[in-house]
Amino acid sequence: MSEAANSETMDQTVAEPLLECDGVYVTFPRYGAEEAVALRDVSLTISRGEVLGLVGESGSGKTMLARAIMRLIPQPGAITSGSVTFEGTNLGELDPEALRRMRGRDIAMIISNPRGELDPLQTVGQQIGNVLRYHLDLNSKDVRERALDLLKQVSIPDPQRRLDAYPHELSGGMAQRVVIAIALACSPRFIISDDATSGLDVTVQAQVLELIRKLVSERDTSMMFITRDIGITAHYCDRIAIIYAGEIMEVADRGVFFDDPLHPYTVLLLAAFAQNERLRRYWLGEDKVRENSGPSAVGCAFQNRCVRVQQRCLAEHPVLTEHRPGHFVRCHFPVERP
Ligand code: SF4
Repeated sequence: MSEAANSETMDQTVAEPLLECDGVYVTFPRYGAEEAVALRDVSLTISRGEVLGLVGESGSGKTMLARAIMRLIPQPGAITSGSVTFEGTNLGELDPEALRRMRGRDIAMIISNPRGELDPLQTVGQQIGNVLRYHLDLNSKDVRERALDLLKQVSIPDPQRRLDAYPHELSGGMAQRVVIAIALACSPRFIISDDATSGLDVTVQAQVLELIRKLVSERDTSMMFITRDIGITAHYCDRIAIIYAGEIMEVADRGVFFDDPLHPYTVLLLAAFAQNERLRRYWLGEDKVRENSGPSAVGCAFQNRCVRVQQRCLAEHPVLTEHRPGHFVRCHFPVERP
């Protein structure tokens, strides 16, 4: 049984969950050493129509969680424990063909490198058409009409002409819009946006974020919005989860999360976001070494950077616990408001 299953409750939201990760572990074998744990005891639920922000620094496990949901863990890694359930189906029980059908049709992903995602040798229309043909039984005329309609929905300028354009003829913002159009092509019920706007300049980034949020809310699609920027989640997410060293550290509704954070790492992130240097230094314990310290393998993963660390944190691994209704934290000594 997962650690979180021992916690007070696993039900992180009152609405019916569309997607549920329950105690997911992803590990990578290492020659002559203990296996590397990329995800540890990840339990999360996402409701229908909900946008969950997943925030973490580079290497924290954000993309690995996206890959675990899509069942696309790079070899030789594997999900070694736990389950991912989508609309009541345990994805671990699907055969490879059923998983291929699910990807793109039910669950789609928007990634941060649109140029890497798009085939340089195929036109925009062909690439949208490939997805439509694979998942839907449409003739060529309907495919073209549908592709054109999708380009209009993502506000591509001159969509008729762009349909026959190659990726190198598109700007970065336009290429990202095409990737969004491909993700939306089959009206998936769940979308994972993995740092989808990080390569774009600030103005285009805001436009693309607005577009994603609008399209998701119009279609009542659920989304996991992966980002390193905690500020973005304040505008675009209903709930926010913090991930550190492959573990979910805190989950709460947006308002509660920003008003009343419980985990010391969340407080540190918020202080950095608010550019409150005094507060940030306080939560680092005035110790520059802490800032770059890596996660600990024993006890709390965050102990090397935590100003509140105590003896118990060094020995006992904290579990994700519902501290208040709907507000989960993985910490022995959560931050209490003064
Ligand atoms: S368990 Fe201890 S070390 Fe870990 S975040 Fe909480 S107070 Fe800090």
